Amino acid sequence: MAQQRRTLIAGNWKMNGSLSANSALLGELSGASIASACEVLVCVPFVYIPQCEVFLAKTQIAFGAQDVSPHQSGAYTGEISPAMLADFSCKYAIVGHSERRAYHHESNELVAQKALQSLRSNIYPIVCVGETLEQREAGKTNEVVVAQLQAVMDVLDEGALARIVVAYEPVWAIGTGKTATPEMAQDVHAVLRKTLAVRSDFAAEKVRILYGGSMKPENAKELLAMPDIDGGLIGGASLKAVDFLSIVAAA
Ligand code: PGA
Repeated sequence: MAQQRRTLIAGNWKMNGSLSANSALLGELSGASIASACEVLVCVPFVYIPQCEVFLAKTQIAFGAQDVSPHQSGAYTGEISPAMLADFSCKYAIVGHSERRAYHHESNELVAQKALQSLRSNIYPIVCVGETLEQREAGKTNEVVVAQLQAVMDVLDEGALARIVVAYEPVWAIGTGKTATPEMAQDVHAVLRKTLAVRSDFAAEKVRILYGGSMKPENAKELLAMPDIDGGLIGGASLKAVDFLSIVAAA
């Protein structure tokens, strides 16, 4: 990882947890001494954000949401706005996770609006991009991820662009135990960074590009050693403190 970018290890709990299970997990995480210089984050279901605020207030661990509304307020039943997240000291929001793109039909443009509105409330969006197995086999990986990133770039000015985080998550690697090899991931990360650089060298240098998709203690070190991999977005392995902390230690 390039030195000017601070490694980010982010957990994505997905729709898992309960008040009591979270107490145990957050207790273990906050009690651990995190020697690594990397930034540590957990992205939790909306309703558990106040619990994180209580547990993590005096720790080095940040917390975030897994989605956010593309609107700031108004008649949008069921939505949670970026300003509401900011009210609870939330720092990040995942936008455009492949599960939301697939199950909730989120378009590149909607994801871009979520990123834009998040930044307006000082919530850093973690913009997920990634190809399906079918798209990879058809040789369309770069085309797909560039289009997903480009839609976000289209709505942000240079200063805002430099504040996003990108997560490359090949859909075929999510929750499947299949991981992209470090070289496969690096190739796509380099394409994403080049895409950012077309618009702004400053943003390309600043933006952290995380890898996600079955990252675990056994493969984290070699993935994180690649020059354009600046951290991880971790699903399954973020639910067990020992696994998550050993990924943090590998960073
Ligand atoms: P996984 O999920 O680590 O369980 O593959 C990653 C993600 O979906 O963010």
